[in-house]
Amino acid sequence: MLPTVPVPDKHVADYAETAGEEAVQRLVEAARPLRGLRLLQLNSTAFGGGVAELLATHVPLLNDLGIETTWAVLQGSDDYFAVTKAVHNALQGHPVEWTPQMAATYWERIVANAAEVPGDYDLYLVHDPQPAAVLRVLEEEGRRAGTWVWRCHIDLSSPHEPVWSFFEPLVNRYDAAIFTLPEFVRPGITGPRLAVIPPSIDPLSVKNRPISEETMHEVLAAFGIDPERPIITQVSRFDPWKDPLGVIDAYRLVRRNVPGLQLIMAGSLATDDPEGLAYLDRTEEHRAGDPDIHLLTNLQGVGDLEINAFQQAAAVIVQKSLREGFGLVVAEGMWKRKPVVGGNVGGIRLQIEDGVTGFLVEDVEGCARRVAQLLADPDLRARMGEAARERVRQRFLSLREIEDHLRLFSTLIGEARN
Ligand code: UDP
Repeated sequence: MLPTVPVPDKHVADYAETAGEEAVQRLVEAARPLRGLRLLQLNSTAFGGGVAELLATHVPLLNDLGIETTWAVLQGSDDYFAVTKAVHNALQGHPVEWTPQMAATYWERIVANAAEVPGDYDLYLVHDPQPAAVLRVLEEEGRRAGTWVWRCHIDLSSPHEPVWSFFEPLVNRYDAAIFTLPEFVRPGITGPRLAVIPPSIDPLSVKNRPISEETMHEVLAAFGIDPERPIITQVSRFDPWKDPLGVIDAYRLVRRNVPGLQLIMAGSLATDDPEGLAYLDRTEEHRAGDPDIHLLTNLQGVGDLEINAFQQAAAVIVQKSLREGFGLVVAEGMWKRKPVVGGNVGGIRLQIEDGVTGFLVEDVEGCARRVAQLLADPDLRARMGEAARERVRQRFLSLREIEDHLRLFSTLIGEARN
């Protein structure tokens, strides 16, 4: 059996206050016909990045709803994760060379992991390309059991074709595939039933629940950040798609007119992202010793509470991605009543209503202009922050996403029984 991730208990009833009693009841009803179902969730990291964040909430809540859910993690290797990161980049549009050696490295780990996938679950929910090919191995070995769903979290709007054509037939074996946006569904995906389900944030998590001013100030003090001067924050893995260098350039443009401005860039180093350290070094170089740019990672003790404080402390949140499947950090900032200035790409477009809950920007100059505008106008910040909070409340909280999943599962299980 693959290693599993232990998760603390969570209870759906506790969400009534933020999501509403009606949402709780709807979810309980949607789960009723599925009680006792055994669900295995499979991804490639227990820590760092959006998928691990989602599973840490979904797995305990599904269990609370009576769906016996286990979170298993694929066992990679340095070589394998180097390949799957190249795959991730290629599927988001970067032209990487796809060699037979890379494919062999991928298959070697997939075959080894497939041998460890238990056969006694009703439903398998497989996240992203890293473990996607496990199903094919099981089929070839005559060990396929249960219903299989592939969940794509990345921005598939313009993939590098040689890599996508490797994955397309693997994805086409699934019973269903879930995407964040309709434009991520490639025309060649003709096998699975398709569902569009945007991700969500957990309003009760340590990262998202309200914290006191005092706690926030303690966190800022621990990292040498001045609460009296304006702060802009971007929380992201150190990854070219998150454009940390562009964020620094935008900060520098704004700082010409706001000399006290501080920039917090916090990014965890995920176990399945081998580029993280190298890209952190590049960002550190670009920082060029500026004491008002705070580059912080989990290695310095940045955990969920610290991320919460950094988002809460910001006058403006930035997410200047160049590609983005969804961008949980955007919803996290909006939930904290912050206007978010985000790249006009992928899932960020779904969250930010331009000019209402924040601003969508195309480049460094546009980003700097909008950040400066917001810093100069506290009323606009407050207005957008309220609208942002409401948008997340209506569309991007955990219960809604879990309910969407349960409706899909019911359809699939119904079909499997007939
Ligand atoms: N995150 C974190 N610490 C960090 C950086 C990121 O806890 O230093 C979290 C962040 O708050 C969010 C998730 O990791 O919940 C990142 O998800 P997102 O969808 O924004 O991006 P991904 O990393 O999946 O591309």
